[in-house]
Amino acid sequence: DNILDIFIIGAGPIGLACGLEAQRAGLSYLIIDKGTLVNSIYHYPLNMTFFSTSDRLEIGGIPFVSIHPKPNRMEAMEYYRRVADSQQLKVQLFEEVRHLEQEGELYRISTSKGTYMARHVIIAVGFYGLPNMLHIPGEDLPKVRHYYFDPHYYFRQKVVVIGANNSSADAGLETWRKGADVTLVVRQPTLGSIKYWTKPDLENRIKEGSIKCYFSSSLTEIREREVDIQTPEGKITIENDFVLAMTGYQPDFSFLQKIGVRLSDDEKCYPQHDPETMETNLPHVYLAGVICGGMDTHVWFIENSREHAVKIVKHIARKARAEEQH
Ligand code: FAD
Repeated sequence: DNILDIFIIGAGPIGLACGLEAQRAGLSYLIIDKGTLVNSIYHYPLNMTFFSTSDRLEIGGIPFVSIHPKPNRMEAMEYYRRVADSQQLKVQLFEEVRHLEQEGELYRISTSKGTYMARHVIIAVGFYGLPNMLHIPGEDLPKVRHYYFDPHYYFRQKVVVIGANNSSADAGLETWRKGADVTLVVRQPTLGSIKYWTKPDLENRIKEGSIKCYFSSSLTEIREREVDIQTPEGKITIENDFVLAMTGYQPDFSFLQKIGVRLSDDEKCYPQHDPETMETNLPHVYLAGVICGGMDTHVWFIENSREHAVKIVKHIARKARAEEQH
């Protein structure tokens, strides 16, 4: 029949892990992604290095070999692509999932290219699709970027980097090393969570004045040639060519709400699910990966959420066996 046992939304590391588990359990499945394979990793900064060692980025127990202690973006794409190929994972790309409706015991899934019927659905859509906006005048100017890719572009440009975490630290240091004039604007009074091998580098660049940094400060307006910064000493205006707003990203809550997954009432917006089985308030609909943390996008990462795949498929396979016995 055309009814899938499991429909998996998202071909990130965790969606792929779910596919591997389903395949091993002998269940029919399909993984669908709105972009390319591991679309989030593809959109990471070009020179990004993972904070995890390669063994912790492995899925389905398939070895990820790297000669570096921490692999980079290119190696990770190579690994996940090879896994998808060698295991002949059923993946369809550049197809966006738009809606999900219950139809009796089944779900009807509508995408940008067609409709599918499935007994179970796993939502592994990550959080990298929607940047946290600044909500200030000028944010829509093309010189404002919410995704940073490559430092060369910013050679001899006046760059403001917003944020105090890993992505801001990397963007600030990389662009400065390739000849940009960098100003960091940090809302908090200190730097945030930064990889332990990067933090002293940034602190020393700030101390020696190579990278300017305004703490307890925020951007209030962006214009074509300058920006306004509210600092504890008052408002200042500096010349500016580009703004890298490394202010984080958030899950697509409207998608979850539209299909009926309940979110907590607080600012965390935790999507409701049973931590043992990962099943949501919608029967036979599961959550996997970083999406499970709601606004807490740093709680779940690859190494601690790949086990969601195992939990979910075990739960589904157990139900299937119980039904067969009836
Ligand atoms: P994602 O990888 O985000 O995958 C979700 C997928 O769903 C995407 O491909 C997206 O295109 C797709 N999708 C979304 N909506 C739809 C839709 N409606 N229809 C179809 N497809 C859809 N984690 C680590 O464990 N170690 C690290 O060292 C590490 N370093 C990081 C560095 C950076 C710069 C960033 C931003 C993150 C890092 N992370 C790291 C976190 C890591 O990205 C996540 O843990 C990981 O990507 C989570 O996998 P996922 O499969 O849950 O989500």
